[in-house]
Amino acid sequence: DKWSTTNVRNTFVEYFKAKHNHVNQVSSPVVPLLDPTLLFANAGMNQFKPIFLGQVDPSSPLANLKRACNSQKCIRAGGKHNDLDDVGRDTYHHTFFEMLGSWSFGDYFKEEAIEWAFDLLTNVYKIDQSRLYATYFGGDDKLGLPADTEARDFWLKYLPADRVIACDAADNFWEMGDTGPCGPCSEIHYDRIGNRDASALVNADDPDVIEIWNIVFIEFNRDESGLKPLPNKHIDTGMGLERLASLLQGKPSNYDIDVFQPLFSTIAASSKKGPYQGMVGTDDVTLRDTAYRAIADHARALSFAIADGAVPSNEGRGYVLRRILRRGVRYGQQILEADRGFFAKLIPIVVETFSEAYPELKAKEKDIIEIIEDEERAFGTMLDRGIVHFEELKVKMKDSKRDTVSGSEAFFMYDTMGFPPDLTEQMAEEANLKFDMDGFKKEMETQKERSRLDRKQKRSGASSIVLELIAEQTDYLSKQGILPTDDSSKY
Ligand code: ATP
Ligand code: MG
Ligand code: MG
Ligand code: MG
Repeated sequence: DKWSTTNVRNTFVEYFKAKHNHVNQVSSPVVPLLDPTLLFANAGMNQFKPIFLGQVDPSSPLANLKRACNSQKCIRAGGKHNDLDDVGRDTYHHTFFEMLGSWSFGDYFKEEAIEWAFDLLTNVYKIDQSRLYATYFGGDDKLGLPADTEARDFWLKYLPADRVIACDAADNFWEMGDTGPCGPCSEIHYDRIGNRDASALVNADDPDVIEIWNIVFIEFNRDESGLKPLPNKHIDTGMGLERLASLLQGKPSNYDIDVFQPLFSTIAASSKKGPYQGMVGTDDVTLRDTAYRAIADHARALSFAIADGAVPSNEGRGYVLRRILRRGVRYGQQILEADRGFFAKLIPIVVETFSEAYPELKAKEKDIIEIIEDEERAFGTMLDRGIVHFEELKVKMKDSKRDTVSGSEAFFMYDTMGFPPDLTEQMAEEANLKFDMDGFKKEMETQKERSRLDRKQKRSGASSIVLELIAEQTDYLSKQGILPTDDSSKY
């Protein structure tokens, strides 16, 4: 296992440290408690935002940092970078993943960044260069920016012209969020098949031609008024560790790498549908593998997030975590017919697999297990009822030839059984039904209005035993995590 995930990670950091004088700046917490613009760390550059913006206190150790590298814990399940809907359904997006990163803060720029990326991939990891494609920013009128011919020309030193591709701003202008440091980027893509022209498959959602590394040329800051040039130019690179490990291990997908196998064995012990077989699709058989991927992913995401101080709840980050957990538990109980409580059993496996690199997991293991057991228990009972309820709904809809799960039906499942709307939407999709998300949102508004009125009536002295009972139940349901607080409707 020359290229175990551990070795792939260490080799990256060592390359930039030993060969190019970078400082190993360890991963920041995946829960960015100090940045209100950010739900979870979504890229390695997040923790360096003040450096890019020139806002570092001169006495801070960061003030003199010129070059850095690390492996950063990331979660992309909300905000600008939200991959939750794809997770499990494809084989190369996770909610939680590790991003290998290297940075230059006003130091070296495009030429070195491209040279070293190519050197590391082809001379250290020994990747066959004929499998590699590079993209560069093709220019954009709306942003008022020309094509990045500099990046293109540096790539042409290493790759033939038919494997150096211009792409639009959607893929090649990188931004961390609605505001913050940003810039044009140049990405490296890998063809798992080889011996063919795969240029048309780059950035085309093909699982065999995947983006592995993004080199961002941070030159701007976006604020409410638009793009502003920064005083200095910076390099910010990010490479998906699991994607890189998959190709170095010669595996067809991220989920076939070493670190997922102990998780899959543990899930298999609870599955009544047999072991993981790596298929992708939406029919009954392939749905099993979707469930395996989602569950393994979600167990990792929750473990890392809780270790860093987040807790599933009814608002903000906490509600994102609650939705991830319910998504995972639903896949297990409904699709794999796993027994209740299967999900918490995965936590010790996550801890064992990742503690060497991330000791905080071991330190928080007891808390993580306890929190997840509680969450899973609270949802498990409601989930069984919800599954039965949805089956009945399907029959009713078939009888009356309806094809859309209505807002009020989704609201009922949300209100009485704790089903986040995206979960009901997913179940509708699996049953080839449509889903009325706008209708659901309207129901939420009506419900909020109703509870405002109730509160008002109560204040005006009109409180009746009925209103008190409603208030008590609302309170109870909130405490059980069944009803959200006001601002969770955003998610
Ligand atoms: P994609 O186009 O595949 O969604 P991206 O362009 O959104 O990726 P970047 O923001 O450029 O990704 O992040 C840098 C690198 O992190 C990517 O090149 C990829 O290797 C990895 N990466 C991004 N999102 C994920 C994810 N959800 N799961 C695993 N790896 C990811
Ligand atoms: Mg993406
Ligand atoms: Mg991309
Ligand atoms: Mg990218």
